Amino acid sequence: MPFKKKVKYIFITGGVVSSLGKGITASSIGLLLKLRGYSVTIQKFDPYINVDPGTMNPFQHGEVYVTDDGAETDLDLGHYERFLDVDMSRANNTTTGQVYHEVITRERRGDFLGATVQVIPHITDEIKKRMKVLGDSGKYDIVITEIGGTVGDIESLPFIEAMRQIMLEMGRKNAISVHVTLVPYISSAGEMKTKPTQHSVKNLLELGIQPNILVCRSEGKLVKEIREKIALFTNVPSEAVFSAHDCSTIYEVPLVLFNQNMDRVILERLKLPDINIHLDEWTRFVEQIKNASRIVKIAVCGKYIENKDAYKSISEAFVHSGAENDVKVVADFISSEDIESKGAEKILKGYHGLLIPGGFGERGIEGKIAAIKFARENKIPFFGICLGLQCAVIEYARNVCGLKKANSAEFVKKNSFNVIHIMPEQIKVKVKGASMRLGAYPCVLKKKTLAYEAYKKPKISERHRHRFEVNNKFRAQLEEYGMIFSGLSPDEKLVEMIEIENHPWFVGCQFHPELKSRATNAHPLFREFVKAASEFSQGNK
Ligand code: GLN
Repeated sequence: MPFKKKVKYIFITGGVVSSLGKGITASSIGLLLKLRGYSVTIQKFDPYINVDPGTMNPFQHGEVYVTDDGAETDLDLGHYERFLDVDMSRANNTTTGQVYHEVITRERRGDFLGATVQVIPHITDEIKKRMKVLGDSGKYDIVITEIGGTVGDIESLPFIEAMRQIMLEMGRKNAISVHVTLVPYISSAGEMKTKPTQHSVKNLLELGIQPNILVCRSEGKLVKEIREKIALFTNVPSEAVFSAHDCSTIYEVPLVLFNQNMDRVILERLKLPDINIHLDEWTRFVEQIKNASRIVKIAVCGKYIENKDAYKSISEAFVHSGAENDVKVVADFISSEDIESKGAEKILKGYHGLLIPGGFGERGIEGKIAAIKFARENKIPFFGICLGLQCAVIEYARNVCGLKKANSAEFVKKNSFNVIHIMPEQIKVKVKGASMRLGAYPCVLKKKTLAYEAYKKPKISERHRHRFEVNNKFRAQLEEYGMIFSGLSPDEKLVEMIEIENHPWFVGCQFHPELKSRATNAHPLFREFVKAASEFSQGNK
């Protein structure tokens, strides 16, 4: 199929090491082009064989980012949404698993009868089709494609090959390559070293790709001589070698790149008109982050605390909501098992708010429940997300309604006091992949509640990822003792939000609001939670 000529493609690869911030680079480039008036989307291609990250351990992979259309995707899609302030979809994330699944299904159906099915062209053709799908939709001027992994990895080879073929077919004015690499500082030599970057570009050249732009990650700013040396060895003009040095916040990266003219260089390479940029709001946002007047301390009690990426969207939502409240949120990730062994008071004293995030399995649950009890009784602002809501309901049932055996069917199967039980449509589900209640669902809010006060509208839509829910059998009893069901599904069958009487801010939601917090538009629940925590911190002085 011929390409729609007007769509431009930017491919982003990474070299030397992983975790260089390709996702932030992609998001920053996307933001700068969007602020110049172009319609931009970003897609991620992940070289692992899982169909999606939904079945992976958060310790290893970090957060699973859920889109409105219910896809379980890579956490980089969260950065794309937060920076660009646009919704991503299933089409924005492809994995090797999906590609092979599709090709093998077609082979079994007989689509390739007579042919030997091979990596080139069958796998690469399927990758190319997916790389072009958003561009072919006619919705975008520019499609940015981030390729996961590091150049040189065996797994990413078919993706790089597909990218090479697309660049060749489309021509230099329509597709460019941005390579993110590392320029380490060797303290014993007192110098920044360019060799890893030279080797990484050589790797890319061996695969048939001459990068158009280099983004050099480094601790300090790259001086002109280093940029020129890199340019000489990599065949990239020095005005297209950019310094992406460490910043105090990831939201400053677009400004750092803008100050080096990166968006202009991209527009010039892609032969796109240089439309005026509107950076004021973003600059103000970054200034707010850097100049917050006070600190607010929030305890986040979970079980995946060794990998902070497991709670990525929560951390970022705190940055957005902190900026809106003129405070810096310091979120400490605390193991709920520590609360079990040391007691809630000892660990939570001094915090201005408690957040219990989503999670799975029984480990650490009693610690979470003890933490919630402490926050409820001491009127510390509390925010429960998904499993956090479920734990808050258990705590309330046990300690306020007197149902001592209250629990969740996720942890004890046979118990007539399971105030949290499996959703009816989940009972028969046996397979693990993509089988939870996933994606956006509507929710109706009760007037005169904290929920309504935050959103300021009666109907909202939020993203879900769960199998269990509040057991309606206990709703009347919980309500009688002062629990408020402030958000329900439109048919009123599902509890989506809870709060309680006589507490400054105690809110739980069955959905994941952190997934919809945007850089310059903090999520209303995070904004209000941080506001309550900030007020608590001042009252406590
Ligand atoms: N484990 C709980 C459930 O499946 C909560 C899930 C979550 O917190 N995302 O309902």
